[in-house]
Formats: sequence, structure tokens, C-alpha cells
Amino acid sequence: EPRRSVDFAAELNAAQFKAATHPDGPLLIVAGAGTGKTRTLVYRVAHLIDRGVPPSRILLLTFTRRSAQEMLARAEKLVGHASRSVHGGTFHGTAHRLLRRFGPEGGLPGDFTILDQSDAEDLMGLSRTALGLGDKTKRFPKKETLHHVYSRHVNTDIPVGAILRDEYPRFVQLEEEFAKVFADYTQRKQQRDLVDYDDLLLYWALLLENAPAVADKIAGLYDHILVDEYQDTNVLQARILKGMCRVHRNLTVVGDDAQSIYAFRGATIRNILDFPREYHGASTVTLEENYRSTQPILDATNLLISRAEERFSKELYSRRTGGEKPWLVTAQDEQQQTRFVVDRILELHEQGIPLREMAVLFRAGYMSADLEIELTARNIPFDKWGGLKFLEAAHVKDVLAFLRVLENPRDEVSWYRLLLLMPGIGEVTARNAVQSMADLAWSHESFGRFTPPPRAREAHAALVRLLADLRAGTGDEDGRVTREIVRVRALYDDILRERYDRVEPRLSDLDQLQTIAGGYPDRATFLSALALEPPSATSDLGFGSDTEDDTLVLSTAHSAKGREWDAVFVIWAVDGWFPMARALGSEDEIEEERRLMYVAMTRARNHLAVSYPLNVYDTRRGADYSLDQVSRFLDRGVRKAFQRVTLQAVVEPAAVPDASAPPEVDLRALLRGRFGSS
Ligand code: ATP
Ligand code: MG
Repeated sequence: EPRRSVDFAAELNAAQFKAATHPDGPLLIVAGAGTGKTRTLVYRVAHLIDRGVPPSRILLLTFTRRSAQEMLARAEKLVGHASRSVHGGTFHGTAHRLLRRFGPEGGLPGDFTILDQSDAEDLMGLSRTALGLGDKTKRFPKKETLHHVYSRHVNTDIPVGAILRDEYPRFVQLEEEFAKVFADYTQRKQQRDLVDYDDLLLYWALLLENAPAVADKIAGLYDHILVDEYQDTNVLQARILKGMCRVHRNLTVVGDDAQSIYAFRGATIRNILDFPREYHGASTVTLEENYRSTQPILDATNLLISRAEERFSKELYSRRTGGEKPWLVTAQDEQQQTRFVVDRILELHEQGIPLREMAVLFRAGYMSADLEIELTARNIPFDKWGGLKFLEAAHVKDVLAFLRVLENPRDEVSWYRLLLLMPGIGEVTARNAVQSMADLAWSHESFGRFTPPPRAREAHAALVRLLADLRAGTGDEDGRVTREIVRVRALYDDILRERYDRVEPRLSDLDQLQTIAGGYPDRATFLSALALEPPSATSDLGFGSDTEDDTLVLSTAHSAKGREWDAVFVIWAVDGWFPMARALGSEDEIEEERRLMYVAMTRARNHLAVSYPLNVYDTRRGADYSLDQVSRFLDRGVRKAFQRVTLQAVVEPAAVPDASAPPEVDLRALLRGRFGSS
């Protein structure tokens, strides 16, 4: 087994060493970006294993499965294969694993289906209509709003009334109706063995809090729990940790209040602030030395965050002196910004920085469109992280609906979706149909017995046949899910061609889905994995770039969390873009945008360029319009930490007509001739 002896004291600074080798008991590490929080956590895992804690009794919770895997890969370099038995993953992934196993002891079916956000919204819509509240004239909220309020309530424990007062004052009088919809939604999920994202956490917490015997079993699985990015956990997650550590209290949490970027989903830095009170005798370690960035970059990011209402103020320093000031680049328009980024990337590449050591970051997924076109044209491989809507695409959801009713015949949302695919079936008919299936206790037979309107008869019969055929197939042989998708597509591709425009890219999405399915042993695992860890990068979808070993990263600021690159470009630093216009409504949201900008800029090791175009082309108006100004986060004080680069307007040389030469053809005469005049 390859392993080297680890000199913890030499590879960590004093504070990091203290944290990594902390004896049992609660431990809070709160520190700024790039101070080695994640590194310390990795070393702590290694230390625990060294100390003889069985790896399988360590639980490491992180924000994405990908970052958990990365941390464990790093731990493996320190302590060898043993680290492979550590349980690493997300809260939701872990909840899923535990509920499949222990849910039945709390009366939950072991084979529930997971609803993703848009499924949950659809089901909320069905509840609303079933209660007769869907009538648009009544100004009742949209299903998305209902779901948002519900989810916020569940994740924060804030009463529904207070959420409405805060976020939707116009719906305050509807509090009772909200409660009714939520009650119906809850019942509907339970009767149909459906579990939404929030339920995963909620049921986990409820088991721990209400079923002492099961709680002992679940909490008894682990001796140590470690959590990275603790600032982005919510109240429910804190409750879960409390329950999991009740007995041993071996909980290490790591976070940075200045990087809290998920308050919009209910995360709260109160979890960090309250930690010492919740866990008496907890040790707190702070780290101040930044190992990631050069001092000039830190000067800029320190200034940026000094404007925030931060609770733990910290002034980060780096011994990495030298290096140049970050750039603040003014471009005339989007194309010029794109050209600048690409040229600069190539320049740095020539200086020896591999593409994989560079990243371009932006506020929202759509903002890299122009850049993607240019990179493709110039043959520069890239992988895009975040902002993918693959699973939200209607055609992908359609195909998954077939698989889902095979898996769970009570999956109301999917039946509803399949019904809507048939000609002559609209929302009302589809709703009545699922209702009649509910009355008949949900089965494929009851779907078969439903009498569709004449136009849908043929499609209905074809679907019944297909589902029966697929159900008759048995076994979990390799490639089974892929083959099922192929069979589904034999029916569905024609529907797709009829219903949607842009057929080719949609068909290739389905090809991708088929490829992804090939990696899973069975349908249930495939469907759960897709819902829990949807593809989040183009490389997850198997397009091109991940086969290249030197690939540029394009990423949303959210998805770049925790990462670092030699050179980082932050584009679209324009007010209304970063911060996003829709976040400008409240001080809290603006502050969250500021922290997100901080996250983006602190990803850079040696080179940072922040850019903003002055004009943008509006496709709807078919003209350029000028943008208001540079992001408010780059106020005059902050700008002092940057060197300014202004890209000059490119004056296209006007084509000068050569007046002396005779025209090759007389266009005006040609046109006149066409109408027979002379
Ligand atoms: P973030 O807040 O962005 O998640 P972080 O605090 O988790 O940052 P890390 O990613 O763990 O910071 O560390 C930042 C960089 O500094 C990494 O490249 C890490 O290897 C390096 N580093 C941290 N501590 C040390 C150290 N003591 N010696 C050498 N390198 C270090
Ligand atoms: Mg980190």
C-alpha cells in the first residue's frame, strides 16, 4: 500500500496543525478564503485514520460529491487506500443513503422516488388545482412561489406567515390557503411514495429527533463527522448534525462567513455564530495566513469584503509578495471583452500556464455564451461548470417520466407528464386522469383502463403496450437502463419532432442521457443519482472536453466555490449583471451578491482580471445599448487596488468606394427592368 509518512507539523502551520490534530470534541474552524480550511480538514481525516479511527466510521460532508471525492483523493495521498472507506458526500446524498436503509423503521417506504425541484413544483401545482385555488382570476400565487415558500419554511423553521410578510406582502391574507396547499402537497407525496429534496433532510432530522432506537443506530454509524463550507448549511442541517453527534460530539466544522452564498436557499451563518453556544467547550481555531493568492490580489479582495457587514472581521495576509496588481478591464462591448479574455488566456498559456490552471467566472450560466462560441471557433477546449439546465429540459424530463412510472406506478407527476404528451389531452383531462388513477390505487392497469378522448386513443394504446413490454423485461443485466431508453425513444422521438423546435440538439441531449444511463447498474439507482447529483458540468454529459487533459474551466461563481486557479477572469462585472438586477431588491440580497463576488475573486492565485463591457447588444431591439456602470462592488476605493486597462474602441476601416472605376453592373437598371418599366 503506497503511503508516505506524513509530517503534520511540517506540512501545516501552527494553527492548522492544532486543528488537524485536535483531540475528540467539537471544533470550529472559521477563517477566510485560501487559508487552508479544506486542506486542514483533509489532514484531520488523515490524522484520525492514523490515530486508529476506522475510516468507515468517519463521515465527511461537503457541498458537492465532486469536492468530497477530491478531498478523499487528497487524503489518500497522505494515508493510502484506507481513506477510501471514509464516507464522503453531500447532506442530501447521505440522507438518501440513510433513508433507503432506515426509512422503513420510521414508516417510510424503502423504494421512494425523489422529486427534483421542478417535479416538486409541478406536484404543488396539482395540489393547488385540486383545492380549487388555481383559478388565475383569484390572483393565487404560482406553483413556483408556493414551492419556494414551502421550502423556505421547511429549511429555516420560519413560520409561513412571516415569510409571506417578508417576501410576498401581497399574499399575506392567503396564509391559510398556503397552509392548505402545503398539507395537501405533503399528503400527496406520502400517498405516492414521493420524496422531495427538503424531505430528505427533514425525514433524517425527524428520525433522529423522534425515534430513539433508530436514532441510536444511525448516529452510531460514525465516530467523527467533518463538515466543509459550514457557512452554507441551514437550520435543518444543523439539527441533523446535532442529532448525529449527540453521543460523541466529535464534530469538526469549517467555514467562512464572508463566503456565505446560499442564504437564498435558507442557509444561515447563524450556524457558525451559534456553534460555540450549541456545543459547550468547543474549540475555535482561526487562520489568517492566506496561502493561495499573491498580496496584490489579497489587497483587492480584502478591500472588497471590508465593505461588507461581516461578523468575524479578518485581515488576510500572504507571504506571497511580488505579483502584479489585478486588472480592471473596460471593454467597449461584449465581443471585445470576449476577445480580450481569449487573447489573454493564449498569452498566459504561451508563458507556460496550462489551460487547466485558468478559469473564467461569471454570475449566471448564460453569460458565457459569446465566449463559448469564440473558444469553440479557436479550438480551445473548455469545460463548463454550473448553470446547466440539462435535466430541466422538457424533452429530457419526458423520457425520464417513462422510466419513473416503471419504477413507481404512483408517481403522479410523471403520469401527468406522459398524459400531456398525447394528442387531444390537455391539463384538465390529464388531471382528471391522474385523479381517477389515484382512486384506483395507482397501477399500470388503472392507466390502461382510463378511457382517453378519441384523438388520444392510439397514443394511449401504444404507451400501454410499451410500458407492458418494458415491465415484462427482467433482470439487472448491464445496459438495461440504456436499452429501456432506446425503446422509449422508439415511441417518443416522433412526439419530440412534432412538439418541439430545434429538434437536433434535443435528440442529442437524449443520446447523452442514454450514455449517462450506461454507467448505472439499474433504473432505481440511475433515477436517484440523476435527481441527487444532476450533471453539473459539460464533462458530466460526456461532451468533448474531459477527454482533453488540458482544459479551461468556465464556471458560475457558485460552482467555483472552494476551487483555485493560477489565472482567474471575472467577466460581466456590470451593475445589474453582477450583482444581478433581480437581487437589488433588498440589502441582504445585495450583500449576498457581494460575498459571491468575493468568492469569485478569491479563486485566483497569481493573475486576476475583472472585466466589464460598456455596451451590450440587445437581440430584441437589434441594437447596442449602454450599460449603466461597473459593478457597485468595485467602488472607487476598491478600484485603487486594481490597475486599469481600457480597451480602445476598434474603428473598422470604412470601405472607401473607388469613384473612378465604372460600375460592373447597373443595379438600379436591373431592378427597374424586373417590373417592365424602362
Ligand atoms: P476556500 O475558503 O476558498 O475554500 P480554504 O481555506 O479551504 O479556501 P484551501 O483550499 O484549503 O483553503 O487552501 C488554499 C491553498 O493554500 C491550497 O492550494 C492549499 O494547498 C494551500 N495551503 C494551505 N495551507 C498551506 C500550508 N500550510 N502550506 C502550504 N500550502 C498551503
Ligand atoms: Mg475550502
